[in-house]
Amino acid sequence: MQITKHKIVTIDYTLSNGQGAVLNSSIGNEPFTFIHGIGSIIPGLETALEGKSSGDELKVRITPEEGYGPRNDSLMEVVSKDLFEDVGELKVGMQFEAKTETGKQLLTITRIEGNDVTVDGNHPLAGETLHFDVKIRDVRDATSEELSHGHAHGPDSDH
Ligand code: ZN
Repeated sequence: MQITKHKIVTIDYTLSNGQGAVLNSSIGNEPFTFIHGIGSIIPGLETALEGKSSGDELKVRITPEEGYGPRNDSLMEVVSKDLFEDVGELKVGMQFEAKTETGKQLLTITRIEGNDVTVDGNHPLAGETLHFDVKIRDVRDATSEELSHGHAHGPDSDH
């Protein structure tokens, strides 16, 4: 079966950055399952998978524009360490979810200097060229329930 809009697609993938370092992989974990064609994965990967079939293997290079977007320096902010007094010891690389007017935003601490803490609201992969190694394991039709929920249901789903 070919991948088209509203198919449920299951893939194995390994994601590397432009320097060849592996960032994330489903190998050794559960394969990744999603509804195709509704923007639940990054645009570049969705485009590359369109029309492919179960068993296909592909290597995909995705620019930041087709991935997690370019970096935006205005999403970096220096705040007071006092804001984190409940957290305990702060470290560079710690991530927090902040509520903003537009919804939830993931913030990463990128610098700590005295009382000044720099937080970065860019996606950790913003600005990165991404390299995906993908093997398509399964393609099937979505049920109407899955489409109304906006996500795939596994064999253990109870809703
Ligand atoms: Zn559901």
